[in-house]
Amino acid sequence: MRDDFSSKTKEILAKRVTYKCSNPECRKPTIGPHTIPNKTLSIGVAAHISAASIGGPRYSEALTKEERADIENGIWLCQNCSTLIDKDENIYTLSFLKEWKSNAEDEAFKALLQKDYSNTPQLDQIRPYAEAELVWTSSGKRPQGASPKTHEIYGDSPISIMQVIWYNHISWSYDLKIYNNSSVGLFNLKIKKHPSNTSFQLKDIIPEINNLLPYRDLTLRAEISTFLEGTGTEAVALIEPRFPDRIQGLRLLLEYVGENRNIYYTELILKGKSLKIFHLDSIPADY
Ligand SMILES: [Zn+2]
Repeated sequence: MRDDFSSKTKEILAKRVTYKCSNPECRKPTIGPHTIPNKTLSIGVAAHISAASIGGPRYSEALTKEERADIENGIWLCQNCSTLIDKDENIYTLSFLKEWKSNAEDEAFKALLQKDYSNTPQLDQIRPYAEAELVWTSSGKRPQGASPKTHEIYGDSPISIMQVIWYNHISWSYDLKIYNNSSVGLFNLKIKKHPSNTSFQLKDIIPEINNLLPYRDLTLRAEISTFLEGTGTEAVALIEPRFPDRIQGLRLLLEYVGENRNIYYTELILKGKSLKIFHLDSIPADY
């Protein structure tokens, strides 16, 4: 007379370990597709921890009929492992099998809580992408005294203010906006100017140790300037273009570190009103 598990008990035992064998050395799936489309194939067994009938492995007289058929006395195994545990009671003891069961259930629960990373690339394998734009903010002229040329040309005759020749400080101001267009952090950003860019000046400095979070940006003020000995009209004409010829071809190099500690580079070259962006894995030779 066997005290078998009900089919409901068997089903719950199987589901609690996601139909995987509870032997930690095995963990074989015990269910899969049958060749007939509307059937499943099962190699799982709801095994008795303490035998279902007298003389069976780990049989205990102390248990009642109900206790023997209770879910507490069952463990989900594959067919192989269910045979194995009945071959040697000295190895596969009651407490040994109970530990298998509880570990298998813990494992199934942990797997359930865990986020599935299998389709998402490891963060430390992604390179960050620094990108940038140069945004014009203002242009200005600052007269710094009249040039003696005014007197040389006009002598002492009265002239209009627009005819006066000044020493002018002319400047164009920009925001260099740097973006981290990636899902990973970007560290220790450095900005190198190409040796050919003498007039471009960064007004803000970034600390040596810094980080730019994913999809964040930072703004650095920058300026180019020149002197003009000329009239106010000439000065106004000079500052009129927001991206004058003297800044065209501006080359900047962004150097930064990824979460994987690799160093990456982005070269910026000004063409017209926008920066062309080139992502590089090594430093260009002419920097
Ligand atoms: Zn197994």
